[in-house]
Amino acid sequence: MRDDFHREATVYQQTDANRLQFGRCLLNAYLQQIDRHATGFCNTCGVPETVKHYVMECNNDVTREVQAFCQIRNHEHNLANVLSNGEIIRLICRKSKRPI
Ligand SMILES: [Zn+2]
Repeated sequence: MRDDFHREATVYQQTDANRLQFGRCLLNAYLQQIDRHATGFCNTCGVPETVKHYVMECNNDVTREVQAFCQIRNHEHNLANVLSNGEIIRLICRKSKRPI
């Protein structure tokens, strides 16, 4: 059972990583492209809410946590590093207060 759980967790995590890498997630910039959001802007910052904005630039807990994670481990805080790191993807999903 334990192994099944871990295999599944990895599949979900990979899916999250792929969606974030391709920008096809539930963030406002993509929702606007599919006519599910009027402006595509971040509710906090008033700029397009892209994946990069949400995990790199936003005044939200996700950006703060990702920055802190990179700083502590001496990773450069850039989008390629963030989206290729399974630990960071898990952190993003955990810290996000809404489905992304
Ligand atoms: Zn923002």
